[in-house]
Amino acid sequence: MEAAQSYSVDRSTLPKEVAEQVKDCKNVNSVVCERCQSVVLKPLAATFVQKKAFLPHMKKKSDDQTIEDGEMLQNYWVVADMFDFENVGFLKTVGTIKYLICADCEVGPIGYQNLEDKTALYVSLDRVKHLYVSQ
Ligand SMILES: [Zn+2]
Repeated sequence: MEAAQSYSVDRSTLPKEVAEQVKDCKNVNSVVCERCQSVVLKPLAATFVQKKAFLPHMKKKSDDQTIEDGEMLQNYWVVADMFDFENVGFLKTVGTIKYLICADCEVGPIGYQNLEDKTALYVSLDRVKHLYVSQ
């Protein structure tokens, strides 16, 4: 048994559109950018986790972004390493939080990394699209 990184999820408590994306705690489909559909995560690359975390509202990087203005989100994909992503960019670091954006169109934040725990990078399910992949 792997005890270090185990997540348990009660699927019955998840909204249907979220539960559809999760199988054995992994992402069934590709995770892509809402705007340009650039692939952020391949199927099964990430682990589903529920945690309450604040993300600023989505904007283009070039827009003047107010980082304090955002919302609490609670459904995330988590990966252990930058290199688990197909594409990802960084917006900026605020305190210990580094915000993730789409590498292609620079929309974000789609997720974050807390620099106090570099082994976890989070992508919000509410900030990305999921593309069905035929197996
Ligand atoms: Zn994009």
